[in-house]
Amino acid sequence: MNWLSKPVRGLLLDITGVLYNSGEGDGVAIASSIEAVKRLQASDLKIRFVSNESSNTRAKLAAKLGRLGFEIQEEQLFTPAPAAASYLRQHGLRPHLLVHPGVQDEFAEFDMTDPNCVVMGDAEREFTYQNLNTAFQLLIKLDRPQLITLGYGKYYMETDGLKLDVGAYAKALEYACDIQSLVIGKPNAEYFSAAVADMQLTIDETVMIGDDILSDIGGAQKAGLRGVQVRTGKWRPQWENHPIVTPDGIVDNLAEAVNLLLAQNAA
Ligand SMILES: [Mg+2]
Repeated sequence: MNWLSKPVRGLLLDITGVLYNSGEGDGVAIASSIEAVKRLQASDLKIRFVSNESSNTRAKLAAKLGRLGFEIQEEQLFTPAPAAASYLRQHGLRPHLLVHPGVQDEFAEFDMTDPNCVVMGDAEREFTYQNLNTAFQLLIKLDRPQLITLGYGKYYMETDGLKLDVGAYAKALEYACDIQSLVIGKPNAEYFSAAVADMQLTIDETVMIGDDILSDIGGAQKAGLRGVQVRTGKWRPQWENHPIVTPDGIVDNLAEAVNLLLAQNAA
């Protein structure tokens, strides 16, 4: 496969749909991925877990992954909320939040009394008509409406089926307000580059593995990375001939990618 035609020193791994499928409670681990992550953690490869997960703080996400059987340090996790908080800080912004209650702690430092932007994550049950309309009313009255989204996915897979993701709701507000979101998270190229820089590697030495052909594979390729599609999570058979994105590799699951990669590195 051409994703192995150049040396690989680092991996960026998507979490949901690659390590586990979310759903009731902690969701369900993809069994072969537990062993695969152990083998990677024991290898010379550097790893960062690059997720658009926006319903948990990093600490809570690391703890949840631990309960599912994955030993992952909080420092190895890249999630959009801390990146968004640092953007708000740099630009002196006061957010109105339309996010999942589980991630609100990441924004505890901000004054929200007179908001000048809206931050939207995967709010799940908080995506009510009332909450969307409040965000709309706030944006439409601003001179320069700014909508910041934590990721921009269309949908994701849960144990009981596909679920609408934040991008679908963001589109509604973009349409109503004639604006474009600032996306913090995948598929934003800067988000991938920050994770690569954190490993002190180059784009050329790094491969992204994910289940979302646009956000993970297409996004990684736009950032100059190789992108490998897994046939787990939200993967759909028709993506094998996707009109926009051709992955650099397609594997059944993370375990197959790890087998191929470690065999190649040992040769
Ligand atoms: Mg995923």
